[in-house]
Amino acid sequence: MSIRILDDSTAGKIAAGEVITDPGAVVKELLENAIDARSSKIDIMIEEGGKKKIVVSDNGEGIISSDVSLAFKRHATSKITQLDDLVHLDTLGFRGEALASIASISRVSMKTQSHLEEIGTEVMLKNEKMEIKQKSLSIGTTIMVEDLFYNTPARFKHQKKASDLNREIIDLVQKIALSHPEVSFSMMSENRSLLRTPGDNHLLNCIYTIYGKEFVDHLVSIHYQNDPLEITGFLGKPTYMKSTRLCQYITINHRFIQDVKIAKAVEEAYENTIMINKHPVFILNIQIPSHMLDVNVHPSKTKIRMLNESLILLLIKDGIRKKIREKASIPKIPIEKVTSESVYEEHQQQSMNSVHKPDIRERLTRESTIPYKEDGRIHVAEIQEEKKDQDAYKKFNQFSSFLANCKLVAQIFDTYILFEGEDCILLIDQHAAHERVLYEDIRIKIKNGEKITQNIFPYHMKCSPGEYQILMDEKKCFENIGFDYDEFGNNTICLRGVPVFLSIPQNHQVLSSIIEELQDKIHMEHTSKLEDKIILSACKKAVKGNQKLSDQEIYHLIHQLSLCEYPYSCPHGRPTILKMTKYQFEKQFKRIQ
Ligand code: ADP
Ligand code: MG
Repeated sequence: MSIRILDDSTAGKIAAGEVITDPGAVVKELLENAIDARSSKIDIMIEEGGKKKIVVSDNGEGIISSDVSLAFKRHATSKITQLDDLVHLDTLGFRGEALASIASISRVSMKTQSHLEEIGTEVMLKNEKMEIKQKSLSIGTTIMVEDLFYNTPARFKHQKKASDLNREIIDLVQKIALSHPEVSFSMMSENRSLLRTPGDNHLLNCIYTIYGKEFVDHLVSIHYQNDPLEITGFLGKPTYMKSTRLCQYITINHRFIQDVKIAKAVEEAYENTIMINKHPVFILNIQIPSHMLDVNVHPSKTKIRMLNESLILLLIKDGIRKKIREKASIPKIPIEKVTSESVYEEHQQQSMNSVHKPDIRERLTRESTIPYKEDGRIHVAEIQEEKKDQDAYKKFNQFSSFLANCKLVAQIFDTYILFEGEDCILLIDQHAAHERVLYEDIRIKIKNGEKITQNIFPYHMKCSPGEYQILMDEKKCFENIGFDYDEFGNNTICLRGVPVFLSIPQNHQVLSSIIEELQDKIHMEHTSKLEDKIILSACKKAVKGNQKLSDQEIYHLIHQLSLCEYPYSCPHGRPTILKMTKYQFEKQFKRIQ
């Protein structure tokens, strides 16, 4: 085929492919334009996850009538005139591409009135032809985008389902709202109101409306200045961690960016205060002189390049670390995690010593009156006799003989169980252990099809828009694990039944906290794992808070744990047992070098 220059329409659609990948990208570009127009109020409305309709209205400066037709042309921008302007850019947009791109792959109309003129303009774009009418309007701009990707079927086909897109857009709007607390954002989807931020220029108030009171209670403010950068915003306390990174949000010069390196630097600054599989929360703005940044790296403008990147990352880490350290004081004893490998090694060692030591089964029969054959669990001896499951027996045997030489010292802080061994102490986190036991118990019950729902007096539970969406989308999954509810309208559900796990009926708070954890699109993509996620969160909530345990209860718990398939960690991956060796104590107390 001979070489030819593509016609404008085809070239436009190809270029649009880079900027407008999904409805979220449209929302992002329109919001950025509205912010650049110095709006104080921006309203977003979407239908079918934005695939059918996206409307963004603002009360900003508007566009003067003579400029209106230009706005939809490629490389038409009021924000820069030459490349050098990028060095001191103070707007979010600058490429003059978004409106042209959006118009080439959807049906667009716009109403706008400039604050400098008496009369406004209404524009309809049809088949790349523009119809313009003069009309009196209120000051600001409304852009309506319908039937996105109607003329690029390949792109249309690859769009996610509306509920997933909805969730992504809520997340995006929340984040943009957090980077501009001076603007009041509202969002509606399918005529449901999903979000409204106050726009009073107080970041904490904005965070409050998005994440709620509990979240705000666990934040500390940070203001760190170390040339050339300045960090402001809020950090979650080290004691408040989430199982997802959804509540980590960083802007550079109030620009919404996606930069894993910076978020990683912040996370690293929390050092060993972070539990396995847990992540700190933070909402930060980092101000860096714009001459040190290159924002023109990608058409979507969500990537940046920084001059002296390693220095900047180092400073960020330093600033955050200082704040976190203010909270910590006692030096930490290095603690070893107990794993099946380490237990196996000790077990080998013990067998070699071949001195008879009573193992936990003997101790249990001597010291605990709890019969072995409870909860329908198989008697250990039975496994041994019938040799039904050699592996299970081996595991039990190793785990219990590992504890065999240890004596129960105490329960401390109503939370940990302390055992003393020959040359080490062991700490068992009773909650983590209980969680593990619960998790395996629920899994077995569901697998065996046992009924676990208990009817309750109908409870009307008000949810956040994101939560409501999940409850509607994943109703089947929640029902499988024993929750029973109906749609009640206005982001409210009517809860009629809750699951009973180990004789504890789960309440609506458990349901709320489960959904909170599920609000991670990464997890949502693996819906097969959803049920597991729900059970995990349910277990976490089922375990009671600080609780005094009798010796008998302790032995009972340890016994149940020993019957678990994976006794060394809770189902979230936190360790159930930690070990501190006598040697480590001696080192810490400087008895040895
Ligand atoms: P860019 O934002 O990179 O300049 P866009 O294609 O997004 O390019 O917008 C083109 C121009 O249209 C902007 O430079 C701005 O002058 C004008 N414009 C777009 N949206 C708005 C709005 N909501 N309010 C005022 N002016 C707008
Ligand atoms: Mg723009």
